Amino acid sequence: MEQLLNLIDGELRPAVSGAWLDVHAPATGTVYAQLPDSDESDVEAAVEAAHRAFPAWRALGREGRSAILLRLAELIEQDLDGFVMDESRDNGKPLSLARRVDIPRAVANFRFFATAILHFPSEAHLMDDVAVNYTDRQPFGVAGCISPWNLPLYLFTWKIAPALASGNCVVAKPSEVTPLTAYRMSTLCKVAGIPPGVLNIVHGLGPKVGAAITAHPRIPAISFTGGTRTGAEIARVAAPMFKKLSLELGGKNPVLVFADCDFEEMLRTTVRSSFTNQGQICLCGSRILVERSLLPHFRDAFLQRVEALRVGDPTDPASDLGAVVSKDHMEKVLAYIDLAKSEGGTIRCGGERIHLTGDLKDGWYIAPTVIEGLGPNCRTNQEEIFGPVVTIQPFDTEEEALTLANATPYGLASVVWTKDLQRAHRVARAIHSGIVWVNCWMVRDLRTPFGGVKQSGVGREGGVEALRFFTEAKNVCIKL
Ligand code: NAD
Repeated sequence: MEQLLNLIDGELRPAVSGAWLDVHAPATGTVYAQLPDSDESDVEAAVEAAHRAFPAWRALGREGRSAILLRLAELIEQDLDGFVMDESRDNGKPLSLARRVDIPRAVANFRFFATAILHFPSEAHLMDDVAVNYTDRQPFGVAGCISPWNLPLYLFTWKIAPALASGNCVVAKPSEVTPLTAYRMSTLCKVAGIPPGVLNIVHGLGPKVGAAITAHPRIPAISFTGGTRTGAEIARVAAPMFKKLSLELGGKNPVLVFADCDFEEMLRTTVRSSFTNQGQICLCGSRILVERSLLPHFRDAFLQRVEALRVGDPTDPASDLGAVVSKDHMEKVLAYIDLAKSEGGTIRCGGERIHLTGDLKDGWYIAPTVIEGLGPNCRTNQEEIFGPVVTIQPFDTEEEALTLANATPYGLASVVWTKDLQRAHRVARAIHSGIVWVNCWMVRDLRTPFGGVKQSGVGREGGVEALRFFTEAKNVCIKL
């Protein structure tokens, strides 16, 4: 059985403890690899190595670092098929999705930040004849990066790339549920020319490795993507240590469908925004709010499309949905479907586990599920389910649509469907979320600020926001 290794100080090694954890393939429900069950001694070695490597990495300058990160992007791209297979096997997502989205985006993350750093400006503020101020943005040393399982390499590199480009060294922890592509990438780092200690990848459990990174006194900044509860725990530990924190957390995103929308485009995209990656994208729309006059037509057409989705072997190009990521997660999602029933919801389609046949018979598959008949305050419409489950609620006025849209503790993303430009502007301004898509979904420009409000997080990633997070601004004031 394949054993994955940590990358520490440029070397691939097992955990100091010698202990291992199992890695499962969601498609079959079987164990196919092991990852190091690391702990604080591995994190300590990684932090030491990162601090040793920092002066030279910083001194290499933007162009030197950029060239190395571009080489890493190139190497990942050359091994696209291997990465795609690994991502799909590890996560259960359709191979076609990993090929179209996950791995190309990981490559794009490196390319984007390797070049963004070359254009990252410093501001200057002139005080007439008195003085000139300029902002010197310096890397702070060692960044801690902790990422989730839903878009494994995509989100891992979204943090590592700006951290490294800015001149920091990194101690990173991929999700223990999906460690495979981070490991595959770690095998390319030496060839890419990343000096030992610059990027350290420590595998293992959140409460051990993640907690050790969070609490480490020599890691002054933590960039975290994951659940809101974990984010709160990280903030509890890191805030009194005055660490810089970027927290990208959960969501319960609304999709507002007005009767004047482009119906066909809305329908096609809403099927995607509901069920892409088995609904396991923090940006998926999970609460569909539909103007009442459109509801019967929407319901019929939407259910017809959802029922036609194929849940199947992730390697089969005909599969629209693969497996959800773990047995625990499948049970959690199914428990939410039961909760929705007990809260009085009507299951319009799906609502159960799907048992495939042959090798896939023990895989973790859930039918895409549409629920109606629930009000905004029930748990089904308040809590993040993070699976192939959406609810439909009607509204009569724009004001009511906004009240419903804003009626959760989350505020990550929202989608608005209307042809009325005035309304699009009004609604976009009034929605409490960090991201608003109008007449589209998941259209991503990496220069834009990315993040949420309320319990969806603190801080922004992307573009200059990320480069600012991974540097400390110093004002230098010189008398004229
Ligand atoms: P999670 O919070 O369970 O785990 C995320 C990471 O944190 C993992 O690497 C885990 O090992 C680590 N971790 C767990 N406990 C820790 C601790 N005490 N200290 C430090 N690290 C710890 O989240 P998940 O289940 O992997 O991912 C799903 C969640 O991520 C969902 O809530 C989803 O909305 C969210 N998410 C948010 C975004 C975003 O950009 N806002 C993107 C993707 C996913």
